[in-house]
Amino acid sequence: MNRMFAFSALVGQDNLKLALILSVINLGLGGVLIRGEKGMAKSTTVRALSALLAEQAVVAGCRYGCDPDQNELWCDDCRERSAGKNLPEKPPGGIAIGGH
Ligand SMILES: [Zn+2]
Repeated sequence: MNRMFAFSALVGQDNLKLALILSVINLGLGGVLIRGEKGMAKSTTVRALSALLAEQAVVAGCRYGCDPDQNELWCDDCRERSAGKNLPEKPPGGIAIGGH
């Protein structure tokens, strides 16, 4: 059984939660590097926040989750693939879960 904790139900880890919230608000931050002792709820915290995010379309295979409709914002990998014959594809159904 895979139980999901509500983000608001997580106690402690205030700096981690703040960093994740800020990364969702401002994608320009480029993400959050999380490290810590085993059992400090790193993964649980990230999963709980991702459950709150809206679904969005991403370029299939892009590790950064580039938006297929905003090619001016694509990462270098997506730009390189689009310049060749191997164009990025929209994911089946056009939807992937989570943020960037
Ligand atoms: Zn990309």
